[in-house]
Amino acid sequence: MSLEKIKEKIEKLKEIINYHNHRYYILNNPEISDKKYDQLFQELLKLEEKYPRFKTSDSPSFKIGAKPLESFGIVEHSVPMLSLSNAFKNEDLLNFDQRIKKRLSIEEIEYVCELKIDGLAVSLIYEKGIFIKGATRGDGFRGEDVTFNLKTIKKIPLKLFIPSKIFIPEKLEVRGEVYLSWENFKKLNQERAGNNEPLFANPRNSAAGSIRQLDSRITASRNLEIFIYGCDTEIPNIKTHFQNLKLLKEAGFAVNEHIKLVKNIKEVLNYCRLWQERRNELNYEIDGIVIKVNSIEYQKRLGAVSRSPRFAIAYKLPSAQDTTKILDIIIQVGRTGVLTPVAVLEAVKIEGSLIKRATLHNEEEIKKKNIKIGDIVVLHKAGGVIPEILSVVFTKRRGDEKEFQMPKNCPSCGSLIYKEEGEAFSRCPGITCPAQFKEHLKHFSSRRAMNIEGLGDKIINQIVEKKLIADIADLYLLDLNKLLTLDRMGEKSGLKILKQIEESKTPSLERFIFALGIRHIGEHAAYILTEKFKTLKNLIAASMEDLIAIKEIGPKSAQSLKVYFQNPKNLKLIQKFLDLGLKFEAKISASLPLSGKQFVFSGTLSIPRNEAFGLVKNLGGNINNSISLKTNYLVAGKEPGSKYEKAKKLSLFILNEKEFFNLIENAGK
Ligand code: NAD
Repeated sequence: MSLEKIKEKIEKLKEIINYHNHRYYILNNPEISDKKYDQLFQELLKLEEKYPRFKTSDSPSFKIGAKPLESFGIVEHSVPMLSLSNAFKNEDLLNFDQRIKKRLSIEEIEYVCELKIDGLAVSLIYEKGIFIKGATRGDGFRGEDVTFNLKTIKKIPLKLFIPSKIFIPEKLEVRGEVYLSWENFKKLNQERAGNNEPLFANPRNSAAGSIRQLDSRITASRNLEIFIYGCDTEIPNIKTHFQNLKLLKEAGFAVNEHIKLVKNIKEVLNYCRLWQERRNELNYEIDGIVIKVNSIEYQKRLGAVSRSPRFAIAYKLPSAQDTTKILDIIIQVGRTGVLTPVAVLEAVKIEGSLIKRATLHNEEEIKKKNIKIGDIVVLHKAGGVIPEILSVVFTKRRGDEKEFQMPKNCPSCGSLIYKEEGEAFSRCPGITCPAQFKEHLKHFSSRRAMNIEGLGDKIINQIVEKKLIADIADLYLLDLNKLLTLDRMGEKSGLKILKQIEESKTPSLERFIFALGIRHIGEHAAYILTEKFKTLKNLIAASMEDLIAIKEIGPKSAQSLKVYFQNPKNLKLIQKFLDLGLKFEAKISASLPLSGKQFVFSGTLSIPRNEAFGLVKNLGGNINNSISLKTNYLVAGKEPGSKYEKAKKLSLFILNEKEFFNLIENAGK
């Protein structure tokens, strides 16, 4: 690239970044994801580093945040509120550690690791222990006076509790992050959808938008929270950042419970790895980990460079949200006939997985979020797992987006769809609907139900499309000739599937009840019903009173069981299973190998938790949430949490994943 072109590129990048800074810091309404913003910013930094002659003083790489709005009143910060330099990989952290050790000429250094809460930075000023003023970061030197709004946050103490032995200067300035919990963010967006107001893309924007309100009543209604992460006033005898935080906590500030003092950079890397895995357990959004040198003396010696201090760095976690395009909205028909609109997306990678689809739940949800085909939307993984569209980027609308229309007929069988009273879902009533039948079969043969491994989705789709069976019991009438009519089905695979079908004829009763796919009857309910009624005959004969009397079975589930077993077609189907040789193993809990054993799980396993629970329950064991002296086994996966520590203290039996699987395998023999 010629120098002229490079200069042009830098100018263009500066212009784009300034535009997005304005949308983010002033309007609280970004158009691009943080990931895309960070990429642009890094590109600018690299070019400016390589071609310093093009680095000008107006570059966003020198700037912090954005100019404060005069309408709030301006507060000059006594100590600038800086930004943080970023680390994206372990190597960046190791380099940070090296740089610090070299500057200080020391061998090892203590750090404090903190969650980087994704909200809005504020400074709070106290005089003689009384909260007198609070401001946003603004451009780092001058912020907006938002005292009245901050006073609506319950977690900000208006008067401090000063421990008697500690001398706190008359004027104290602390810094922290105002944020909105996931729960309150969802509530707020629901309310806004109800009022036809545009939705916030994420908790950060809603927190920033809520604090920068001219009417404090609006701020008060948003349920904002705060974590304090620093003190900018020197306190006599306090030598470390960690001591500072401890003192702030004692004085009544909300300090995050996961902050950790670590001995070296190796422990920093462990902390970052741990929170990368566990970020979804938190009720608030984090976008990284902040690592700070613990000694205040060292912090002072290190000083600051341009827009960030040298003693701290932000390790950015992979972006938890991104923007993408809705290419289409299709309808998925579920096992119970529920029709679910699903967005087909331009593929995008979020937290390591490629996302191509996201459920839109129902027509109402689409209307509420004002989603159209062709829209650019903000996407994240709810609970770190399920792709969810948070909002539409309205500024990106071109005008050719298409309104979504719920079809009048089921796309699979053509039946006229209907809605049950009080339900948001549309349903297909077709009893012979192929789409429902496919889903029903997938559920029946799934690992947690009848566990017929060879019957994958593609084979089931073909079995239904080729009408090889008319109901689920017909699975047991399949033969090799029928299977050989399927695409790419050889004799060997066909025989393997038939063997697996045959072997599934002796399930435990609870698995069979779950496999029937009765509405509202999940694995746990099936287990409870088996424990209570022991035989299928007893369950079928159970009255509504018998069912409701069971604590874990709610009225909805009881009603659903009654409806299911009163239907002659279902009774005929069950009889057909029995005639075809299905026998239930007398696996009621009293006679099971893990009967009476109490299990607690902590940490991540290589299989989903539900599956691990299923393995224990099928062998008669119980799952508990917390450790007690009654716990027989703690199963510890990767990065187990406090339950592990407690189990160790109580000297309980702790199994790692391998030992757990061995136990299950041997118990099952
Ligand atoms: P930063 O995100 O790099 O880090 C500094 C900020 O971290 C502090 O001001 C504070 O608010 C926060 N923080 C949270 N927990 C903390 C803790 N424990 N200790 C110290 N600080 C803590 O700085 P920045 O300049 O505020 O923001 C830049 C980032 O903002 C970008 O990397 C990008 O992710 C995002 N951004 C996005 C857009 C967009 O259009 N999507 C535009 C501008 C900025």
